[in-house]
Amino acid sequence: MIKLFRLLKQYTVQIAVVIVLLFIQVFSDLYLPTLMADIVDIGLVNKDVSYIIEIGGFMLLIAAGGTICAIFATYLSSQTAVGFGKLVREKLFTKVASFSLHEFDQLGTATLITRTTNDVTQVQQVSVLILSMMVTAPLTGIGGIVMALRQDTSLAWIIVVVIPILFGVIGAALFKGLPLFKVMQEKLDKLNLVLRENLTGIRVVRAFNRLDQEKLRFNDANADLMDNAIKINLIMAVLMPTMMLIMNLTTVALIWFGAIRIDNGDMQIGSLLAFIQYAMQILFSLLMLVMLFIMVPRAQVSAVRINEVLDTNLDIRDPEIPKQTEKEQGLVEFKNVSFRYPGADQPALLNINFCAKPGELTAIIGGTGSGKSTLVNLITRFYDVESGSVLVDGVDVREVTQQALRAKIGLVPQKTVLFSGSIADNIKYGKKDASLEEIEHVAHVAQATDFINEMKQGFDHSIAQGGTNISGGQKQRISIARALVRKPKIYIFDDSFSALDFKTDAKLRAALKPEISESTVFLIAQSVSTVRYADRIIVLDQGQISGVGTHKELLSTCKVYREIVASQLSEEELA
Ligand code: ADP
Ligand code: MG
Repeated sequence: MIKLFRLLKQYTVQIAVVIVLLFIQVFSDLYLPTLMADIVDIGLVNKDVSYIIEIGGFMLLIAAGGTICAIFATYLSSQTAVGFGKLVREKLFTKVASFSLHEFDQLGTATLITRTTNDVTQVQQVSVLILSMMVTAPLTGIGGIVMALRQDTSLAWIIVVVIPILFGVIGAALFKGLPLFKVMQEKLDKLNLVLRENLTGIRVVRAFNRLDQEKLRFNDANADLMDNAIKINLIMAVLMPTMMLIMNLTTVALIWFGAIRIDNGDMQIGSLLAFIQYAMQILFSLLMLVMLFIMVPRAQVSAVRINEVLDTNLDIRDPEIPKQTEKEQGLVEFKNVSFRYPGADQPALLNINFCAKPGELTAIIGGTGSGKSTLVNLITRFYDVESGSVLVDGVDVREVTQQALRAKIGLVPQKTVLFSGSIADNIKYGKKDASLEEIEHVAHVAQATDFINEMKQGFDHSIAQGGTNISGGQKQRISIARALVRKPKIYIFDDSFSALDFKTDAKLRAALKPEISESTVFLIAQSVSTVRYADRIIVLDQGQISGVGTHKELLSTCKVYREIVASQLSEEELA
């Protein structure tokens, strides 16, 4: 928590002002009962009207001053807390954005969302409380004791008796409540997880008639959260009235014993009234401390969760002194590359060696799970190699900035991701300042013009969140256009034609050819007809290269390739 609060540094001025304002407010609160005692014991007793008016007016002034200070203090501290929340969310977002895929896998999307929203809100709310109460509570408590003792010392024992009782009650509540607070956020995570899975997987849920089970799963998580919240509220429900009861009993005791002293002539009525008020102020300050003790651990849990994200060591970082590549041509070289997913026993790639030059089409073929996507993920540096090195333009990808590296790459991922916005926006994602002509051109190359023109708003047709309102093949083509508009040195098509029909596929590849002829092109595909004209075909089998060469060469040298071919092409095509 402390670490998080360091972020408050830029609000030092506001916080200082808040503290000063709160000081003034507390002092005015503490002074008022004494003045009131004077009015009663001096003014009323002597029937001195002008004294009463004078002191009364003074009281009004002080009260007004205190109130104004309180208003400003609350306003400023809320403003600070909200700004602080914004800052933390910003930090979180920036951090998460720089996560490697591995770190995403580790934490999970659901919890990252809760942490960025709900956890920050928890911390933010508490920071307002802490800001005001950390000053007000101790000051009122200590000041109250001093002022009370100035009125009368012999009633002080009542307060001395009450305080331990109060602490006992609070302690018991904390003992019961803390574990509940701790699990609250986890339960919220769980709920978010179930909800997210259901929302994104709604089609599967329906298709497999799992709605009832999913409802149960959601209800479980929901009820779990509710139970926990109810238990917490139950503790609160008992705690608050108990505190009030203790306070009221204190008042009764004070009046009882005070009356005896007044009867004996040892104390004046005004003094007793003031004493009662001070006693209340002291107990209220304790209550505030309790609130702090309840809220802080809750926020502490959230703060730890936030820090966990902020403190995550990034696997993939930019080098301190990034190298510049001399020639920007898109030369890709794998030197003895091995790679293993974190926690996996088997390497996903083993001793990969090859070189892909500009103007060449390198196809990668192999069964599912053979490591094709993994291989291209190393070029974009989504993961770092375990041993060996991946060189782009002669420089290890770990020695240039990720920004510089990825600027050279146009990736069409296996799983198409589009963003909400128009089709044009999505294509422009590849290049911010792409002109309308450029967009139309790449859409034409990607064979997307036909279906885009059929839409009423054409390029302005808005794509729903996750691209659910267009077909898989249409998404793939927009995704291809998005990569094309970058005019990158390196193209990576990861199974990017899988959702296209045969005719569109052929047309697209014909149109693509002149566009990408200068670049280094990687084409991952399942079908031999797609890869057979490649300059180089890399055959992957269980993470290892079992052959590199042209279609013809591989037919004579590579058994795995022959098997793939045999399973797809007819005898005459083989010849
Ligand atoms: P392909 O693209 O050839 O179908 P992948 O490169 O996606 O295959 O996967 C290669 C192997 O790595 C598979 O055995 C797969 O289970 C594993 N793998 C892929 N992604 C991950 C990941 N994020 N974490 C752990 N293992 C993974
Ligand atoms: Mg793949």
